[in-house]
Amino acid sequence: MKCSRCGAPAQIALPNHHTGFCPECFNLFFSRQVEKAIRHFRMFSKSDKILVALSGGKDSLALFRELTQQGYDVTGLHIDLNIKNSSCHARAVVEKFCEDLGAPLRIVNVADEGLSIAHIKKAIRRPICSICGKVKRYFFNKVALDEGFNALCTGHNLDDEVGRLLSNTMRWDIAYLSDQGPALPAENGFAAKFRPLYRLTEYETAAYCFFNKIEHNTAICPYSSGASFPVRKELLNTLEHHSPGSKLAFYERFLKQAKPLFEAAEERLGDPISPCTSCGYPTTAGVCNICRLREQLAADLEAQK
Ligand code: SF4
Repeated sequence: MKCSRCGAPAQIALPNHHTGFCPECFNLFFSRQVEKAIRHFRMFSKSDKILVALSGGKDSLALFRELTQQGYDVTGLHIDLNIKNSSCHARAVVEKFCEDLGAPLRIVNVADEGLSIAHIKKAIRRPICSICGKVKRYFFNKVALDEGFNALCTGHNLDDEVGRLLSNTMRWDIAYLSDQGPALPAENGFAAKFRPLYRLTEYETAAYCFFNKIEHNTAICPYSSGASFPVRKELLNTLEHHSPGSKLAFYERFLKQAKPLFEAAEERLGDPISPCTSCGYPTTAGVCNICRLREQLAADLEAQK
């Protein structure tokens, strides 16, 4: 197979785009997909201050490198979850990556904030991944707003987005469906959030890391076996294999045709958002989930004394 742009031997086939590329032209393809996403949703410009959440995984590192290459003003944000045999590897990867790029990095250690994930797992009998996600999102938002960033970016790719869409649809979760998309404006105490990799699959971001020698974290979180996302991703991969391009078509049609309906329904039915009476960040429940969690953990520690 030859590269469909320059005619050199292709090193990657992309059936979803009916094409194949050599590494150099693949990088160009990748950049154009990111540019297209940024332009289509008017995400941000070169004069904006952009915060990129860096987990240490391939997607967030690929996004950060690509935005840096395109000349955006980016700062990394790593949330150290303090999970044994896992978080130290992720943090080391992110620190080295930013040091090699000469890029600024902010680190928040959740244990310093009274929210150790290991402690939460022991003290609270609920699936840890959803709580862990809430803790991360809380600090993404807090750092973005407290430190004056105009945009908060995450490395969610097309597979992440479609997997989440399927999950939300299977529960017909109006609040989540109205809130899903690659561009969410700053409102109600939330920073503007963007997902510039939404047009690229997990395979494509992995290829980008491979061709550009980006070393990413491969240590597996000990709590990951409870996550249900991989099952849905596998289902969607089977569908994509039989019908290339179906993931992007499903997602884009949702954004165009269904999301506005869910937004209208949420506006009518959703709970009003107001500042948390304790920390001031947005919530629908007086005191936000994170402040309640922090209080619960502090009480648990007190009871153990
Ligand atoms: Fe957090 Fe679950 Fe991911 Fe582990 S697998 S980092 S607990 S969301």
